[in-house]
Parts: sequence; C-alpha cells; structure tokens
Amino acid sequence: MIANYAAKPELSRGRRFPEPAPLYRSEFQRDRDRIIHSKAFRRLEYKTQVFVNHEGDLYRTRLTHSLEVAQVACAVARNMGLNEDLTEAIALAHDLGHTPFGHAGQDALNGCMKLFGGFEHNLQSLRVVDHLETSYAEFDGLNLTFETREGILKHCAVKNAAMLGDVGERFLTKTQPSLEAQIANLADEIAYNNHDIDDGIRSGLISIEQFCAVPLFCETYEEVIARYPKLEERRLIHEIVRRLIGKMVIDLTDTSTQMIQQSGVNSIDQVRQQSSPLIRYSSELLMQKNALKSFLYQNLYMHPTVYRMAWKAQKIISSLFTIYMQDIKLLPVKYQDFIKSMPNDETYKARVIADYIAGMTDRYAMKEYGQFHDLSRLH
Ligand code: MG
Repeated sequence: MIANYAAKPELSRGRRFPEPAPLYRSEFQRDRDRIIHSKAFRRLEYKTQVFVNHEGDLYRTRLTHSLEVAQVACAVARNMGLNEDLTEAIALAHDLGHTPFGHAGQDALNGCMKLFGGFEHNLQSLRVVDHLETSYAEFDGLNLTFETREGILKHCAVKNAAMLGDVGERFLTKTQPSLEAQIANLADEIAYNNHDIDDGIRSGLISIEQFCAVPLFCETYEEVIARYPKLEERRLIHEIVRRLIGKMVIDLTDTSTQMIQQSGVNSIDQVRQQSSPLIRYSSELLMQKNALKSFLYQNLYMHPTVYRMAWKAQKIISSLFTIYMQDIKLLPVKYQDFIKSMPNDETYKARVIADYIAGMTDRYAMKEYGQFHDLSRLH
C-alpha cells in the first residue's frame, strides 16, 4: 500500500556510521526505537509545553505533546500511503532539543547565545541525535538515518545550513524534505493548537465563550451543542477538540493528495525537487487555522499568568548561563572537561553550556537556580 513517492527504508541515504541492516525491523523502525530509548526522550516528561509541569498533572508536557504529534502525523501518513515508521520517528524526535520552560526558555537561551551563533531548538534536536546522546559503543549520538535527521531539521538559517553537510543542503538549494517530514511538521501545529485549547480551558485562563470568537471553534461548538445540548463542560470540550483534529487531518489529507496528483511526482527524489511543500491545507482551512493560532497567541501565550511564568523562566535560564560562563567550575565535571578540551575558545565554551542548560528539565533548572540564589543552603 506504500505510494511510489513515499520514503522507502531500503532506499535510505543511510547512516553517518554504516551499520549492518537490522533483523525483523526496518531502518526507520530502528530509528524510532533508538529515539524512544534515548535519555533526551525520557526528559521530555519534565519539560514544559505551555504550563510548567508542577502546575497540574493533566496538562500536556513535551512528552505527551510529542506522542500526540506522532498520533496525528501517523494518521495522515497512513491515509496517504506514506511511510508511517519514518513519520513516527520524526514526530517523536522533533522536540528532543527543546529547553526547559518551552518557548520562553528557548528565547532566553537564544539571547544568551547571541554572540556565539545563537540557539535554535530544531538545530538542537539534531545535535542531540547526532552528538549529545552518549550511550553507544561505536558512535556518539543515535546514528539515525538521513531521512529521520532531515525531518528533525525542519527550519534552519542559511548560515547554519552551510555547516551541516547533507541535511543542511536543502536550505541552500531551496528544495523540500520527504512528504513524511512535511507531515510531521504540520502535525506539530495540529497537536499544539488543539491541546492548547483543551489546556487553556482547563486552566481557567480562557473560557469556551471566549473561544467562540474563533470561527472554526464556534462552528464546531455549534455542531456538538446541536447534537448534545446538555453536555457537561469536560465532555463538550473533548467533543469539540476531537472534531477539530479530525477536520484538520481530513483537510490536510485531501488537499495534499490533490497537490501530489497535480504535481505528478512519482518518487521521493521528485518530491525533494519541488519548489514548495506538497503537504498543505486548503486555503480556507489555512485561514481558519491561522485565526485560531493568533487567538491562542493573544489570549493564552500572552495571558498575564503564562507571561509571568515565561518571565521567570527567562530569568532562570539567563542567570544559569551567566553563572556558568563566569566560572566553569560550577558545572558538572563532564562539561568542564569538554570545555578544557578546547582551551580559550569562548564560542565552544558557550555551546557546551547551552547544551547543558538545554538538556535540563524544568525542575532540574529550578533546583539548580535555587542552589545558586539561596546561599543559606550550602549544598
Ligand atoms: Mg513541537
């Protein structure tokens, strides 16, 4: 049932360090398995999506977000006869490089790294799977296939792309990644737009009535109410959100299938040669989705409660960065040794510190900050 233009494990461009083919599983299944068994994947459980982990047990974390992205992405890939295993591997790995405290953490670390090449979580996810996981005897990183690495690197500045070799090339030639990578990219947005509605209402920061200002939400709300007029709020929200996800998945499947037919592509190489992505929403759904996204930005991400959390998170991240830059002896010995291996290289030193901070969970970062700022605790 696999389409001609799907990614095929037997035609993979391979791994950076060649390995014998796996038994009883495909190359992309092996990638997915390595991602799930990585340390960075387990840490996602304690990293913020929007709400800090300790604010409540039902909010999404980076881990549950990544699982929801994989669910949505695999549904679309399956609908379209694409490679589900590759799609799943990319979706599960897409946020491995995320800092603690969500986007606030990334923005703060990017600010700290301004003079040292900046910090970008996509690039960091690639760095995790290429270098920072150190569990295998024969290589650093997870030694994933080109196709999974290509998908993880969904954005990249041209100046960084030039230093990345094969996976960076498409940002210079303005070509496309596999359809599986394009799906994982859009599934990220489908997952967070919808789970942030759910978490936004759960937190009490936004009401259902407020969300009704968004046309797509409002029409879906009315569909549910017409069928179940007396539904209690939690069930009502779930019935709305499941329909919203369904609408986005169906629109994405139908529009992309049409785009592929029109383009006439017949292989992954032809997919890569396209000047724009073939995985797309219809223009109507795109408009509706953008309206939802900007509503969430204004009313949830910029809500005073979320903003205050983000402000504190930025202080924690930049303070830790400054402290370690001033005295590397405050770092774990492993990181001190990395820095000492390249003496007098401030850019490398900053990168090692950024790697350490980016790898922290929310609670680890808060504890570490507390130890430097509450000097009555001498441990
Ligand atoms: Mg994500």
